[in-house]
Amino acid sequence: MVSCLSLLPEIIIKPTKLVSDSPSNILLAETNRCVSCGLCLPHCPTYRITLSEADSPRGRIALMSGVASGRIPMNSRFVQHIDGCLTCRSCEAVCPSNVAYGQLVDNTRALMAASLLSPLEDKTAIQKSWLRVIVEKEFIAKPTRFDALRSLLRFYQKLGLQRLLNKSGLLKKTKLATLNTQLPHIHMPRTSSSKADVSKSWSKIYFPIGKPRGEVGLFLGCVARLADAATHNASIYVLNRLGYTVHVPPMQTCCGALHQHGGDTKTTAQLAQQNVEAFNRLNLHAIITTTSGCGAQLAEYHSDFSTKVVDISKFLVAADGWEDIKITPLQYEIMVHDPCTLRNVLHSSKYPYTLLTRIPGALVIPLAGNDQCCGAAGTYFLDQPVMAKTLLSDKITALNNSNAHFLVTSNIGCTMHISSTLRNTNSEIEVLHPVTLLARQMNMLS
Ligand code: SF4
Ligand code: SF4
Repeated sequence: MVSCLSLLPEIIIKPTKLVSDSPSNILLAETNRCVSCGLCLPHCPTYRITLSEADSPRGRIALMSGVASGRIPMNSRFVQHIDGCLTCRSCEAVCPSNVAYGQLVDNTRALMAASLLSPLEDKTAIQKSWLRVIVEKEFIAKPTRFDALRSLLRFYQKLGLQRLLNKSGLLKKTKLATLNTQLPHIHMPRTSSSKADVSKSWSKIYFPIGKPRGEVGLFLGCVARLADAATHNASIYVLNRLGYTVHVPPMQTCCGALHQHGGDTKTTAQLAQQNVEAFNRLNLHAIITTTSGCGAQLAEYHSDFSTKVVDISKFLVAADGWEDIKITPLQYEIMVHDPCTLRNVLHSSKYPYTLLTRIPGALVIPLAGNDQCCGAAGTYFLDQPVMAKTLLSDKITALNNSNAHFLVTSNIGCTMHISSTLRNTNSEIEVLHPVTLLARQMNMLS
């Protein structure tokens, strides 16, 4: 094991003065809660791979403390160890001192983004590419723009251009090549609860079939809005069949997780405000999320809004109305991948298993290594592709050695990361959301 303290002589250049004392003091106070017991180390995916203290939660906290107090500079080695963190929060879930690691790493990234006094060569380590700035600002933060892209991407896929570009190697090993490989089949939004009509975007309201049981809101997200319309459609269908009216407020926006993990606190706060306003004007029993990464972010808005946020599987497990629903049996093995945010933040990983037992004949089993992140982790698979692939490889082996017909997971990032890698191994295992599979067995038309 390499002690992170052994790194300090190498990375000390001069004490760094931070622009504002306040955020660094907040950071320092939280790092002081760590008693360096090391109980989190075996749970950290990056530490398990590198066996370097600087890639462990304890080591990263020591580095954050060093930077916040000005003892070490915010240089490229520091950035490398912080950016190597998946923000999976497995360490937080087992910490006996309740160190708020997720908050610590986000605050550190905010400091990194705000730091004006770091040496020039280090600035390049924290600077984002122009393409990323445009995508985050003009699409992720304005997700309705994805609606305009949907038809274009469907056409692109229909013509076989996605496959052609993958095969051609024209994009080489760029981030665009990764995105092109990962792009799932694009679906259109449903327009009504009773027919499989499609539209450019979702309707404001979907009325229930049969006895009304309550009013819920559906959160669409940004990437999921484009890449996981199938799950949104399935969720509306299942909720309507059970008697729930589903509201899809058009004013809603991205949850802000990508901006928060990138240190952009201003945009994060703006997006949170817009979502709270969009949903709070309706009288809802619950705000339903189908992507655990978004759900985790919404659940930590620190507003009354957050108490209503619930993952779709958890909501459906507790919902009434199942006695009238006919579900077609499925005599197959269904493996379940637990996303980190569902397990460590929402504490809801048991619900997809319980929900899928509603399908007669289905054998629902956990994927081996479910306590470890798959490497998708927001944009981690793009920024740290080597570690992301290493983290996924054991899961792919386990899947290829199994009898599973389906892998279900409740986070679109995990779905895209796992399914594109599985496809490369010629696997026929279908990767989808548990509710999409359930809706199919409830005879949803598309
Ligand atoms: S388990 Fe908590 S207190 Fe112990 S080293 Fe890890 S972060 Fe620090
Ligand atoms: S959030 Fe995950 S990757 Fe980061 S230090 Fe904690 S356990 Fe390790």
